[in-house]
Amino acid sequence: MADVLEKLKVQANYDVHRILQEDFQRCKGHCYLDHAAATLYSDSQIRNVMAELQDTLLGNPHSHHTPSDTSTQIIESVRQRILEHFHTSAQDYDVIFTAGTTDALKIVAHNFIWNVPSCELADADPELNDRQLLSVHGSFVYLQDNHTSVLGIRESACNSGASVYSVARAELNEMFSSLSNPTASVDVDKVAKTDDKNSITQNGLKMNCLFAYSAQCNFSGVKAPSEWIEKVKNGALSQLLECDPLNRKHEHIQEESKRDIIDKQWYVLLDASSYVSTCPLDLSELKADFVPISFYKIFGYPTGLGCLLVSHRASEALHRVYHGGGTILMADSRDMVMVPRPVLHEEFEDGTLPYLDVIALRHGFDVLKKLTGGMENIQQHVYHLARYVHHCLRSYRHANGKPVAELYSQSGEWNVNTHGSIVNFNLLDSDGSYIGYSRVEKASTLCNIHLRTGCFCNPGACQMYLNISKDRLRQQFEAGHICGDDYDLVDGFPTGSVRISFGYMSTYEDADKLLNIIVSCFVKHPLNIDTTWMLKSAESVIEKEENMPKSTAQSSSLQNNLLSNFVNGGADVNVHSGVIDNINYVGSSPVVSVHVPPAKIEPLILHTDPCTRCSESSELKLTDIILYPVKSCGRLSVKNWQLAADGLQYDRRWMVVSDSGVTQTQKRIPRMSLIKPSIDIENNTLTLSFEGKDSVSIPLEVPEPQNIDEDIYMCGGRVCGDRVKGMDCGSEVGDWLSEVLDYPDLKLMRQINIRKRKRGFKNAHDEADTLSLANHSQYLVLHRPSIRSLMEDIRENGSDDLDEEDLIKRFRGNIILDGGKPYDEEFWSSLTINGIVFEIQEGCRRCEMICINPDTSKKYKEPMLTLAIVRGSSMMFGVHAKASIVGNTSRICLEDPVVMKTL
Ligand SMILES: *Cc1c(COP(=O)(O)O)cnc(C)c1O
Repeated sequence: MADVLEKLKVQANYDVHRILQEDFQRCKGHCYLDHAAATLYSDSQIRNVMAELQDTLLGNPHSHHTPSDTSTQIIESVRQRILEHFHTSAQDYDVIFTAGTTDALKIVAHNFIWNVPSCELADADPELNDRQLLSVHGSFVYLQDNHTSVLGIRESACNSGASVYSVARAELNEMFSSLSNPTASVDVDKVAKTDDKNSITQNGLKMNCLFAYSAQCNFSGVKAPSEWIEKVKNGALSQLLECDPLNRKHEHIQEESKRDIIDKQWYVLLDASSYVSTCPLDLSELKADFVPISFYKIFGYPTGLGCLLVSHRASEALHRVYHGGGTILMADSRDMVMVPRPVLHEEFEDGTLPYLDVIALRHGFDVLKKLTGGMENIQQHVYHLARYVHHCLRSYRHANGKPVAELYSQSGEWNVNTHGSIVNFNLLDSDGSYIGYSRVEKASTLCNIHLRTGCFCNPGACQMYLNISKDRLRQQFEAGHICGDDYDLVDGFPTGSVRISFGYMSTYEDADKLLNIIVSCFVKHPLNIDTTWMLKSAESVIEKEENMPKSTAQSSSLQNNLLSNFVNGGADVNVHSGVIDNINYVGSSPVVSVHVPPAKIEPLILHTDPCTRCSESSELKLTDIILYPVKSCGRLSVKNWQLAADGLQYDRRWMVVSDSGVTQTQKRIPRMSLIKPSIDIENNTLTLSFEGKDSVSIPLEVPEPQNIDEDIYMCGGRVCGDRVKGMDCGSEVGDWLSEVLDYPDLKLMRQINIRKRKRGFKNAHDEADTLSLANHSQYLVLHRPSIRSLMEDIRENGSDDLDEEDLIKRFRGNIILDGGKPYDEEFWSSLTINGIVFEIQEGCRRCEMICINPDTSKKYKEPMLTLAIVRGSSMMFGVHAKASIVGNTSRICLEDPVVMKTL
């Protein structure tokens, strides 16, 4: 029951709400659930850093004056501080500052001694000597669910001749548990100590082996058992080397008969990047050899700085090739003479350290400790939050008893040593089909919940948890899915998932906000809760001391109770109709009654087999011509209009940019929709008006400057990732925009260059197609029968306040047509209007901008929710089109006949 779930809300040992109040004012109204990607910095840290920078005279540490010495002192004390944070000292570990985890991993990849020289082999084994062996190839073994930054080591290892092995978590567990003789372990840290780098052991043959895994999986939040490190160092993985590596057939030298004489040195690379962000890492217990981390994951600031902790034992397995910057004692430029610095970090830290950022680390550690009492407390807090969300999602059932979510995590024991701050899942419909992660992301975005979707740079974990076979992976790729896009389902199967992750300042309100949205938008009501799985002893999912009420084991169907836990207050079912937390859901439709209408339309999602539907042509009428002179602002409806090379003339010719050059849209500033444009061609003016304010006018056409470097050019705007150059339209209109939009330092930019269309666009034969600032294409075509069909679907979903014209406004088309059947437009190949051929391109993918009512600038949940249901997560609606215009006499007019061709 909900009671059981409520009991999981174990409060933190520190005052989270006070921290939010005092250090994270900027989070108000936001629910940030992406701490695994980057946690947030505290105001205190920034204040303290700025104060120190203001008060201290600091110089380049490579100089020798006092300010330089001050920098050096601070850097060394921070190095010390880092070692202390990880419960170790300079006796056992060295700290090499890097640009981050990935950079630290690259140091290992490029400098690990993959091939140990073994030319003195002659004495040890004459037979091998015959073959003129020069070195012994090493091995790189990695756990499959590693971050791509770790997987990248494979190529370096392979290029250096090492054998590469991948191992699944389950295989590893099996290998380790079958290890019969734990007492045989020796203290490898002692044994391995040799004086000389690259030395040859008694047998004459030494082989360097590196095993890499993450302490906490950044996909699932599953933590690795702490005993792995010692087991691996003691050779637990040596049996694996008897198999064929991924990159080659078995080497001769590694044949059974010879293997015994090779002394295998196992080193462990512990990717602690995700783990250390919320957990205490004790290197006096976990004696990993290489530990890469990024500091922004621990306290949010600074970015671009991390370190590689290297055990002294492992320093002899690193050999630096490049020597420059401050890494040398002496170099002669006339000869190949160079003497490297003796201390490891001095050898690896090239050039000038980002010493001002290093200073910020001290305050990061200080403030974190002061606010929370330490990593132990943080670890407990985020664990309990993640457990709460995981257990809720796992207990939720649709009205028909089917699960609401599929969770990606290790089953079995649940405690602070096995699970961290992350919950990863996909939602399921009541018929058991997957709900694409893009839909979940879009619904969350609408409510200011910030989470991450996709596969999180961890393809191994994604493939394992989502059961993506090698074949399916290839199919998905061939169907067009690549990392980072929003093709969330291919043939009904997910290509990725939803990840939420907590930080030290996260609250149960954050967790409930997310759960509330899931229940409101994606659960077929009434919601059932089944917590019986928690009490099954076989799974022992809850720690014993959790005093779980044993009597509540029965599954129960509660319709009203549950949501009253989410929405503070009474048990009235109506609490979940209307407003979802602090966003402006003014819609009258009850959020809970979302249901799936019978599948009338094939959702337009990616299929691996081509769609083969055909349709006859039918009578079409051009009902509207609409342009949007200023991108994301109001529209201008016209009866007939001139066409330009990049679409309707003056359509999206201007855009609003901030001082820093960021293009502004309704997504960020919904009030932009209230700016009404009008165009007076005779008088050459564009006039912008806003209710209650004086309007402002600028010239439509201005002479374009010839010199690209002139000041009037502002380079800054980006549209769909492409850089757009433009001209500042002046301070009068800029100030006007800032005033009516209540947003500082805005500028109106007039596009001057013609943006090339993105590559990879369907039907894009001609790379030189020109575009205005429109997001994707020259023209966006809407079809009224599809609009009316969607309107019906929205009504069936319980909302009746959107009529046909409202929907047309939301979808911001340029050319609106009537006649024929819903969604015919997806099978058109071309339209001819007044002799001008419009080639139909792909469908238009929608985002949450369609939820903004342009007349009020308020956000509603429709039509997005219904669109996602009837059209799939990509929410295709309307089609893009292009036309080749020659000269400037082409016009279209409302009475023009429309001739359509189908595929
Ligand atoms: C974030 C992360 C990385 C990469 O860190 P960068 O700071 O982007 O270099 C690597 N591994 C894991 C487990 C991570 O969580």
